[in-house]
Amino acid sequence: MTLETFESLWKEILEEIKNSVGEKSFNIWFNEFLPKTYIHSSLKISVPSKFIKNWIEKNYLSLVLKIIKNKFPEVKNIEIIVENSQEKISFSSRKTVIKRLQTLALKTPKLSIFETNPQTNLNPRYRFDNFVVGKTNELAFAACQAVSKNPGGLHNPLFIYGPVGVGKTHLLQATGNEICKNFKNLKVKYLTTEEFTNLFINSIKNHSTEEFRLRFRDVDVLILDDIHFLSGKISTQEELFHTFNYLYNLSKQIIFSSDRPPSLIQDIEARLRSRFEGGLVIDINPPDFETRVAILKMKAQEKGLELSEEIYEFIAEKFVNNIRELEGILTAIYFESQFVEKISLETVKEIVKRFSKDYYKKVTPKKVIRVITSHYEIKEEELFKKLRNKHLTQIRKLLVYFLREYSQLSYTSIAEILKKDHTTAIYLYEKTVEELNKNEELKKEIEIIKAKLLES
Ligand code: ADP
Ligand code: MG
Repeated sequence: MTLETFESLWKEILEEIKNSVGEKSFNIWFNEFLPKTYIHSSLKISVPSKFIKNWIEKNYLSLVLKIIKNKFPEVKNIEIIVENSQEKISFSSRKTVIKRLQTLALKTPKLSIFETNPQTNLNPRYRFDNFVVGKTNELAFAACQAVSKNPGGLHNPLFIYGPVGVGKTHLLQATGNEICKNFKNLKVKYLTTEEFTNLFINSIKNHSTEEFRLRFRDVDVLILDDIHFLSGKISTQEELFHTFNYLYNLSKQIIFSSDRPPSLIQDIEARLRSRFEGGLVIDINPPDFETRVAILKMKAQEKGLELSEEIYEFIAEKFVNNIRELEGILTAIYFESQFVEKISLETVKEIVKRFSKDYYKKVTPKKVIRVITSHYEIKEEELFKKLRNKHLTQIRKLLVYFLREYSQLSYTSIAEILKKDHTTAIYLYEKTVEELNKNEELKKEIEIIKAKLLES
């Protein structure tokens, strides 16, 4: 291919990207999207900042890959690199962008402020004063506040249940944080039931169940999040039952959360269920419209974002059930706000559209398996064969990684798919994450598979 044909081809590619993402987003993200090198079927494309690189990778990688492959079938993968030498700045708008990013970097509080406390495992970002109270959560809120004033008192255990994203974790952790503040000598421990289960299983493996027991009986407040995870895990249930009795008899506070009421948790021992029901059981539900607007306003304020009333209402109408989604959309708007003077309703509509398309497309386990087997050109059976083959082990590791990250499966379900045990699934996942931090090649590989997964 001559340089000229390549250049005109690239123009066409850019044109198509523009048509797909809209002119506004195109000007923000792709105004310096330049092909750099093409070696071994891999195309390197440069962008002016890491921020833009991350944004494109997160939101547009699959789209871009599809468009490029369409015009340029030899390309097997693309890599976005950052080319940010100062003298290359050619657009005045770029200067403004960079300046804004620099001020942003100064303004944004260091993340370390929100690090979890290693003793309690609580994250200080969850507080009562940044929890918006409405009709659907006021009882749960009041119960948590009461417990934080008098742990081990009247409401023991406290059992909060409700669907995903309605603030259970927030309330549980806020309670823990408040207790730490009010009673400095009390030992508080927060953990998810999955963590509790894994620690217990590991303690059996390492012959250290005694230590495990001491660790959880030596607390004044035990907070276990997502207790429905115990369903079917007989030995952990038994252990929890004893831990519960021990703590309860010493009037130690215990707090649980679950996605359903105790009566509906399946495969759980009756005696444990009756313990759950023995204190105060309260539900929490998705917030109503007014509360959603109030939450949005508070979160926007935290980010230093000012939006018009109609924008808050538009978002609150679009996202109904899950507050995590509300937060996600605000983050996207926040990023966009670094590039434009004023966020218009029109911009928000665009972001919402992109958001629902990219983020909430369900990546089913089936799809993960299909994409991975076709990417590595292997048969599905090979993936599950009992073969000690380095290549296959590596592929299996990625499979576990994607099932966990994108299909959000529990380790138990992953183990079932793999026909291996639960600890193997954990091991494979953790190994991949560990490797991912060190291995650039692997990172690239994962980006490519990710792009394929998010392609429709
Ligand atoms: P759950 O544990 O029920 O799935 P989370 O507690 O993780 O939900 O809530 C999801 C996100 O929404 C968190 O970032 C949390 O801070 C936020 N959130 C939920 N409810 C509220 C609320 N009433 N006010 C402020 N933030 C909330
Ligand atoms: Mg939670």
